[in-house]
Order: sequence, then C-alpha cells, then structure tokens
Amino acid sequence: MHAFNLIWAMFPFRALIMLLALASPVMAGEVAADADDMGPQLLEDTTEDADSRSGDIVAAAEDLPDPAPVDRPAVPLADAVNAAAGPEESIEVLGAEVLPGTSQRLSWSATELFEGVPVSTPVLVVNGALPGPTLCLTAAVHGDELNGIEMVRRVMHDLEPAKVSGAVIGIPIVNVQGFRRGSRYLPDRRDLNRYFPGNPNGSAASRIAHSFFTNVIAQCDALIDLHTGSFERANLPQIRADLRDPDVITLTQGFGSMVILHSTPAAGTLRYAATRAGIPAVTLEAGGPSQLELNEVKLGVKGIETLVNTLGMVRKMRLWGQPEPVYYRSSWVRADNGGILLGNVSLGSTVRKGDLLGTITDPMNNARTELRSPYSGRVIGMARNQVVMPGFAAFHVGIQTDEAPVEDAPADTMSSSDDYVDGMSE
Ligand SMILES: [Zn+2]
Repeated sequence: MHAFNLIWAMFPFRALIMLLALASPVMAGEVAADADDMGPQLLEDTTEDADSRSGDIVAAAEDLPDPAPVDRPAVPLADAVNAAAGPEESIEVLGAEVLPGTSQRLSWSATELFEGVPVSTPVLVVNGALPGPTLCLTAAVHGDELNGIEMVRRVMHDLEPAKVSGAVIGIPIVNVQGFRRGSRYLPDRRDLNRYFPGNPNGSAASRIAHSFFTNVIAQCDALIDLHTGSFERANLPQIRADLRDPDVITLTQGFGSMVILHSTPAAGTLRYAATRAGIPAVTLEAGGPSQLELNEVKLGVKGIETLVNTLGMVRKMRLWGQPEPVYYRSSWVRADNGGILLGNVSLGSTVRKGDLLGTITDPMNNARTELRSPYSGRVIGMARNQVVMPGFAAFHVGIQTDEAPVEDAPADTMSSSDDYVDGMSE
C-alpha cells in the first residue's frame, strides 16, 4: 500500500532491539572510557571540567563557516501553503527527482568515512500532490537517541502523498555510525551536533556535517530535529526554540499541547546552523537515550502531525488541544555532593519553590543531602536514579514567567547557558 511499508519491513523492530541489546555492553565501555561524559562513572581524568564535552572543545578550535543562506520564498512560514501557487513541482533531492504525489526512499552517504567503507542512511521523501513548503525531520544526530527514529517512521508512514501540500523529508538516522555502535558520538568521539554547518576541508565530523547540510538540509523550508536527554537523563517531551524568530514561533505554536522552552541554540548544532541559513528550526526533545519509549514516541508523533496540520500541509490529521505554557527560562539543579541520587518527583511534576526534588546519599557515611527546587515551575528534565558526582545536573525546572524574549536581544540574555554546558540535549 505504501512504499515505506516495504522499507521498514526490511528493518524490523525486533532487529533494532536486538541490535541495541548487542550494542549496550559496548556503550557501557565507551562511556566509562570518556572523561568528558560526566556520566555515573567516577572518572579518572579530572583535569578538565567534568561538565565539558570533547565535542565542544574540538569544535571551538575548528573554523565553522556561516552557512550560505538557502533560497526560500519570502513568505512567512504560516502563509506558506496559502501563498504557494500552481501545481506542485517535482523536487530534486540527492540527485533524484521525486514527482508530485509520490514518495521515494533515497540514501545519503557522507563523503568521508572512517572505515573507508561506504555507510549510507535512508532519506525518505514524500512529495505531495499540492504545492507548499518542505518540512524536514531529522533524528539520531546522536546515535543513541532512539525515540526520534520511531517518530520519523510513524509520521512518514502516515502521510498520503496525494493529500499533502508541499513535501516532507525524513532522515530517521543521521549519525548512522553512532547508531550502529549504540553511541551518541561519531567513531572518533566527536559530537556531530557541534559541527554544523560543517566544513568541506575540516575534520571528519565537519565533513560529514557539511555533506548532510548541503545535500539534504539546504532543501528544507523548516526543520524539526528530534533528540532525547543524554547520559541517563530524560526529558519531558518539549520543543526547544529561539522565540525571537517569527517563523520559529510559528513552528512552536503548531505542536499543540507540548511544553515549549525558549533556548538559543549552541553554535554547531543543526538547529543553530539551519536557522542561520534562514531555515526556521526547532528541537523536539522526548525521553532519554538508549531506549524506545512508546509514550514519548506517541506524544512526539502527535505533536508533529498536529504541526503538519497547523501549517496547512495536511488537512485531515488530528489536531491537539490547548497549548501548554511557554517556559522562557529554565534552570538545572545540580548535586552539591556525590552519592546515590534518588528522585522524589517525576517528569512533568509541578513544583513550588523549596519543594524536595530528590536526595543524594553518600554510600560510605550514610550522609543524606536534599536537592530542593529554587523556583516554582515544572520538572521538564531529570536524571534517572544513579550515582552522581558533585556538580552533576540532576533536575531541569521550567520557570514560568511573563517576560517574552526580545527580538534583538543578545543571544545569552534570555536562556540559561547552562542548558548547553552539559550536553544534556541537542
Ligand atoms: Zn541529542
């Protein structure tokens, strides 16, 4: 009935789970070996700030040029479907022509590979029969973030090309090398999501980023990058967006009842580079890494399908009720002591200032410390129960305020830059 049935029949769920089961011991080993991971393991190398990541440091030393602006129509995204005139045209992606009213499975291979063996990853294209914008969905830029992979599969499978205005391009697994190893990173331990838009003459990560950005992302009129929490942390399903950009606001308003968090993207992230190139982009965070969490997947799919509907690209899909409050600020509550962290709240809990979020117990001397919320708000991200070191970011509290970000405000004034210090997310 649909081309994607075939595609995904070739890649059954069970195989995915088996693959993950096989990959997990490798993962554990990797995390332990990485001094920058700040995971639950006690790390030998403390010469660097345990909160920093290898990706940040290397990327900072590397020259990432500003992306070339993409050629997008000068209509606000909200009017893109109405403003589109005439019949939908064929679109060309990765050298293939996708006719109106059809879908195709293409594949993208980065030009530079570590093993010298071509590794390709599917690029699913639905070109609608009617004119409209091109929406792109990317998942597993971090190879261990699985919820987005399943979201892309479900959304693409549900689309009927004859009824779509515009096109949807879905890339379920961007970092295929990390995915195969069950790892967040590329094989050289670099974080791909610190290298966009990439550089054709840079490091391997930078070249992969460049190839993906120029061959795929440059085709998009809007982008949703799917992520999860990292390192044993989970995120309440939420949209992260720079709410100073009108087209980005249009995107965030389309998701229905999903928490929205204002955050300026870190340099080198796909969201940052896309927005710089003129492609409005948001990050959808849901759940934690290394697991397939069906509730989170369903919420994400519902949000994306509501967005596709709100943009006018599909008329019959479900609409999702009242929008959630927007959190213009947020704060991570960190452990001041090392020990066993046990949570007293759950994702999505509403908390008041002073409420107990969790406790940390020192297993040696049985001393117990409490982590209390410094703000009233909602728990939008939290660590799973685990052993932590002092400084570990444990609970992410969304703070409701009335202050909306100012359009021309400098990048750092509105969002807590802490969000990106830990690599907790995108
Ligand atoms: Zn991620």
